[in-house]
Amino acid sequence: MIDLSTIPFNHPHLAANELDYLAEAVRGGLTSGDGPFTRRATALLRELTGARQALLTTSCTHALEMSAILLGLRPGDEVVMPSFTFVSTANAYALRGAVPVFADCRPDTLNLDERLVEAALTERTRAIVVVHYAGVACAMETLCAIADRHGLALIEDNAHGLGGSHHGRPLGSFGRMAAQSFHVTKNAQCGEGGALLLNDDDLVAGAEIVREKGTDRSRFFRGQVDKYRWVEIGSSYLPSDVLAAQLTAQLEEFGTIQARRHRVWDAYHAGLADWADAHGVTRPTVPPGLAHPAHLYYLLMPCLGSRQGIIAHLAERGVRAAFHYQPLHTAPAGLRYGRTAEGGCPVTEDVADRLVRLPLFTGLTDSDITRVIEAVRSYTPRTP
Ligand SMILES: *Cc1c(COP(=O)(O)O)cnc(C)c1O
Repeated sequence: MIDLSTIPFNHPHLAANELDYLAEAVRGGLTSGDGPFTRRATALLRELTGARQALLTTSCTHALEMSAILLGLRPGDEVVMPSFTFVSTANAYALRGAVPVFADCRPDTLNLDERLVEAALTERTRAIVVVHYAGVACAMETLCAIADRHGLALIEDNAHGLGGSHHGRPLGSFGRMAAQSFHVTKNAQCGEGGALLLNDDDLVAGAEIVREKGTDRSRFFRGQVDKYRWVEIGSSYLPSDVLAAQLTAQLEEFGTIQARRHRVWDAYHAGLADWADAHGVTRPTVPPGLAHPAHLYYLLMPCLGSRQGIIAHLAERGVRAAFHYQPLHTAPAGLRYGRTAEGGCPVTEDVADRLVRLPLFTGLTDSDITRVIEAVRSYTPRTP
C-alpha cells in the first residue's frame, strides 16, 4: 500500500511527564521565573553539560545577549565568529555595538575553521564565538589555545550541542560562557527557551543581575540583601516556571530522546552511503573522539540545482526537507554591522547552496525512516 501521509520536517517530542508537570506548575501558581521547576531543570542541565553554573533564559538568543552584556562589550569591539550560523550568534553582539567578524568554516564539519581565526584578530577583538554545527565539536584544543594566547573570551553557541562531547568532555563546558536553546526545533524543547551556562564563577553574580532586569533580586530572594535595587544594566531574561516544567520533563527523558534520534541518524547514514558515493553527495563528517547528539542530518548535494531538485522530489513523495543557513557575511545586516575576515568565506557560500536537511525527530517510525531513505535514493542529482 502506498503511504501518502506527509512526513513533516520536525515534530516535537512529548515526554511522559510533560503534561502532568505543566498542570502542576499552573496549579501551583508559582508561574513566574525561578520557581521549583526552574530549579529542577537547571540541576538536570548542569548534570548533562558539566557546566559550573546554569541560568535558564527565555531563548538562546537572549543567553547570547546576556553574554555580550557580561563581556562588557563596547561599540567597535570585535567578535570573531562563523558566517555559517543562525542570525542570533551575530545579532546578540551587534546589539551591543560590537562588530561581528565573519570567518569561513571548515569544508568537513562546517564549523568555524580554526586555521583562519588568528588572521581575523585585531587589537579590537574581545571574543571568539564558536558554534558546534550539528553538535559536532569544533577543534576545541586549538580554539581554546588561541583564546588563551590572546586573552580573549571563548563563547560557545551550543544550540545544537546538548549531549555532544569532545574527547569525553561535554560541549558547553569549554567556553567562559555557553548558550543553549530549547526552541521547539532543538533536541530538548519547551517551545521557546534557552540557558546561559557559566564556567567562570566570577560571572555568576553579574549574570543573575543581568537576567533580573539589572537588579540584585536573586540575592534578595535568598535573603542576602534586605531590599533589591537597580545595580547594573540588564533585562528580563528569565522564563516562566511553566516553560521550565515542560523542559524538566524533556530533560528527565533526554536519554530516550537521544536514543531515538540516533536511531534515525544512524539509519540515514547507513542507508544513504552507497547512493551518496555514487552521486557525488557528501554525508556528515564526525571526526574521531567526538560524540554528536544527532541534532540534525544533512547532505551536501553537488550543486544548488540538485539541492532544490531533491527538496522538490522529496515533497512530491510526502517528505518535507529543509535547508539553512544563509551566510551572514553577505546578509543585509551582516554587511551593515559586520565585517568579513581576510580571504572571505568561500566555503560558507558554497555549502549554504548545497546543504539539505532530512526530517529528524523522535516520532519517526521504522516505515517513515524507510520511506525517507527510499525517497532520497530515488533521486538522481544533476551534475553541476
Ligand atoms: C536555534 C539556534 C539559535 C537560537 O535559538 P533561540 O532559542 O531560538 O533563540 C542560536 N544559534 C544557533 C546555532 C541555533 O541553531
